[in-house]
Amino acid sequence: MNIAANPREKATPALIDPFGRAITYVRVSVTDRCDFRCVYCMSEEMSFLPKRDLLTLEELDRLCSAFISRGTRKLRITGGEPLVRRDIMKLFRGLSRHLVSGELHELTLTTNGSLLSKYADELADCGIRRINVSLDTLDAAKFRLITRRGDLDVVLRGVEAARKAGLSVKLNAVALKGVNEDEVFDLVEYAHGYGMDMTFIEVMPLGEVERERFDQYWPLTDVRAKLAERFTLEPIAYTTGGPARYMRAAETGGRIGFITPMTHNFCESCNRVRVTCTGTLYMCLGQEDAADLRAPLRASPTDEALHEAIAAAIARKPKGHDFIIDRSTHQPAVGRHMSVTGG
Ligand code: SAM
Ligand code: SF4
Repeated sequence: MNIAANPREKATPALIDPFGRAITYVRVSVTDRCDFRCVYCMSEEMSFLPKRDLLTLEELDRLCSAFISRGTRKLRITGGEPLVRRDIMKLFRGLSRHLVSGELHELTLTTNGSLLSKYADELADCGIRRINVSLDTLDAAKFRLITRRGDLDVVLRGVEAARKAGLSVKLNAVALKGVNEDEVFDLVEYAHGYGMDMTFIEVMPLGEVERERFDQYWPLTDVRAKLAERFTLEPIAYTTGGPARYMRAAETGGRIGFITPMTHNFCESCNRVRVTCTGTLYMCLGQEDAADLRAPLRASPTDEALHEAIAAAIARKPKGHDFIIDRSTHQPAVGRHMSVTGG
């Protein structure tokens, strides 16, 4: 039965792509703005979208709910920095009804942590159980250099507030050559000291940033080799439904995740799509093809056209991306910044 052809049929809600992958994980960017300007993510001078182009909180709720009715079980709110969006808690509060109903299994977010002290309790109250916090360094001066304007102490206090609120925190660090190479042990020990997972991410060629991408790229095969100097790494089967592969450090008992879009292509098990804050659906982080969901959202107060647009887009989800970073590649593989697509 072609389930994609019958979007309103509750009993057969799954969205299956042409390669047989069920799309059960949606990442939604709620803003392209951010209080940081991380060197690998944004340029110093960013021009942000006019507010009218952004989906309203009500439209974001409709869009997320449409995906949930078609089998989305995990929803990650991201950005830009999701917590800088005005009244963002209204969205979390509204979406939490799908956790209560059991249709949605996990509502989560990725944040730079700068506003966690303010929002951690309320997030926990909305049914959020786990969050990802991006933290590339534990050195305040380096943190300022990487983020161009962030305050490490504020973020560390935010992480503490999240833990105190009962949220399970996973830390994500982008592996940056010559920047945090000397800190991988400290990051792992800090994370594991508080029972948090530590995940390393390879820098991806998204959007023009000032520095040459090759200068930043530090393959995780090298990160892993470095970690093995201090820790005994045991492969484990643990998964959070995302692209990270995990190992356990025998010395700490904690988990270390590796997200390796460059050295290990994880597309074959891809179960996710991304929606930008303007309602553009990207079926693959590393490809340009996209579908506009804002027009069907705004065209009608009911969701038929929206469901049709989603089904048509999933029907052309590509098999995978083809990122390359080498000395001869000076153009980003994809022109848009990570803050646009949502990490
Ligand atoms: N502002 C939030 C944050 O920093 O966690 C959420 C959005 S941010 C775009 C999501 C994740 O993408 C962060 O962990 C960030 O480090 C990562 N990221 C941004 N640009 C990247 C790039 N070019 N390559 C790899 N990861 C990147
Ligand atoms: Fe902002 Fe996150 Fe991008 Fe850093 S990585 S500039 S915190 S959106």
